[in-house]
Amino acid sequence: MEGNGQHVSRRYFLQRLCAIGLAGGGSVLLSACGGGDAGAACDDLSDLTDAQKEQRQQMVESLSYVEETPSENQYCANCSLYTQPEDGEQCGGCQLLPGPVHPNGYCTSWAPA
Ligand code: SF4
Repeated sequence: MEGNGQHVSRRYFLQRLCAIGLAGGGSVLLSACGGGDAGAACDDLSDLTDAQKEQRQQMVESLSYVEETPSENQYCANCSLYTQPEDGEQCGGCQLLPGPVHPNGYCTSWAPA
């Protein structure tokens, strides 16, 4: 029980640190925040309707969204259109496409936060 609670606390702390650090543009924290972790995809679309899934797919294609940014300094977590993950979640959101967005993702509409 205690060990589990510590794990949650560490995770919560790390998420808060990531939110603050990445908003400031610190790419050093990316790996600690899950960026570049190929096993942590933000591709669970089970909360979306069929129409939202279709809209997402269209936006992914038109914006060339990828889950791993090709840029050192531009990624979803420091984009003004990114919405922070809820507590306990790794994936955030985007004002342009429905569904989860990876903090280390990128698209052609990236704008500095
Ligand atoms: Fe990521 Fe693009 Fe959305 Fe910005 S606009 S959060 S870069 S998907």
